[in-house]
Amino acid sequence: MTRQDACEVLIVGAGITGLAIARELLQHGAQDILIIEKEAGLGFHASGRNSGVLHAGIYYTPDTLKAKFCIEGNRLMKAYCREKGLTIGQTGKVIVARDESEVPGLYELKQRADASGATSSIIDVNELSNIEPYALTFEKALYSPETAVFKPLEILNALAHDLASSRKAGISYTTQFLRLVNSTTALTSAGPVRFQRLVNAAGAYADRIAHQFGVAQQYTILPFKGTYQKLIRDKRFLVRGNIYPVPDLRNPFLGVHFTHTADDEVFIGPTAIPAFGRENYRLFDGWDAETPRILWREGLMFLHDPVFRYSAAEEIKKYSTGFVFRKSSRLLRGLERRDIQRADKTGIRAQLVNRTTGRLEMDFVVINDGGSLHVLNAVSPAFTSSLAFARSVAARMVSSAS
Ligand SMILES: Cc1cc2nc3c(=O)[nH]c(=O)nc-3n(C[C@H](O)[C@H](O)[C@H](O)COP(=O)(O)OP(=O)(O)OC[C@H]3O[C@@H](n4cnc5c(N)ncnc54)[C@H](O)[C@@H]3O)c2cc1C
Repeated sequence: MTRQDACEVLIVGAGITGLAIARELLQHGAQDILIIEKEAGLGFHASGRNSGVLHAGIYYTPDTLKAKFCIEGNRLMKAYCREKGLTIGQTGKVIVARDESEVPGLYELKQRADASGATSSIIDVNELSNIEPYALTFEKALYSPETAVFKPLEILNALAHDLASSRKAGISYTTQFLRLVNSTTALTSAGPVRFQRLVNAAGAYADRIAHQFGVAQQYTILPFKGTYQKLIRDKRFLVRGNIYPVPDLRNPFLGVHFTHTADDEVFIGPTAIPAFGRENYRLFDGWDAETPRILWREGLMFLHDPVFRYSAAEEIKKYSTGFVFRKSSRLLRGLERRDIQRADKTGIRAQLVNRTTGRLEMDFVVINDGGSLHVLNAVSPAFTSSLAFARSVAARMVSSAS
């Protein structure tokens, strides 16, 4: 474990965002990077608890950071996995229409994909049956050949190994950022650390750290829980790659979908249920002093935002396997109620809310105040986007320092 009291760049958080930025800063000449991670290892939070889908950038309008970084991130992550001999399954993905009313949504996504430069094609039912023989759709579907699956922990470990091999970057585990002492000193649970630059990649806590620097005051993270169910072993053949519904493009979640993972499981999910804490992985785990404030904010959004109200009400029903079965059997032929079982896998999305507008923020948010850089709203597809995102962030840090 690394212990030091001064560094050139201090990075808070050893998730995919912090690790990718550290690697990129080394390539830009950084000599002394310290990453502090409050947990005892990698992947305890979103970076180790996601669906493992390397997205292809077809959902986002071209003016967004998500579009810009997801497409390039997909390419860079595949190259990284191949270079390091890591698992990457080029499975592709189909988006299906559950009825006639969803067909225009397929064309809207196709237009977004074209405008952003993501590869996709509208396919008919015959073509769909060659790709996903058991997928159901109304006349047309959208095919994304560049979507892939990966093993999150493999990638995190490989990046950490790269950093350790450089001897210019180290991770100090079980070390928590507690507060800012002054503009160049942080108090951590292992003592004070002086830094020249700080990168805040603290995932679900990134807003709190940003507030210490006097930035991002209008933002708060509202945690959303993603739970999964899975197909029993004998029914995994029903899904070859990824089968997604047409999402509600007014909210940032993609709807319950099937993913045949790189570990050869078929997951259904994740849900997007308002959570009671930033680490509320199980029913009563992760409740803390902030829980009443979180409930208050969720209550306000429920009252004032009709999209939030509708989706929260729908999502809570997904705790019921019967409800998930009814939803998912509209995407997949041959599915029976007994084919679905609960999965012991839960993630929390660090979803940003803009308190001024009262709305969920749809895009990544990066705030650079010169001495510190804050990564907020690193929600899906942030894992996919990480290497491209890090490249841009590192270039920005280097240019603002010179
Ligand atoms: C259910 C779910 C499914 C998803 N599916 C996909 C997908 O298929 N594809 C995709 O591309 N993306 C997906 N995502 C999104 C992706 O996983 C996240 O966007 C990404 O992992 C965020 O990485 P991060 O490094 O920013 O945050 P994290 O992984 O949360 O890392 C932040 C780290 O900071 C540490 N930390 C926090 N506070 C402190 C502190 N005070 N001091 C020290 N350390 C601290 C935490 O312990 C943590 O390890 C999914 C997310 C969820 C929740």
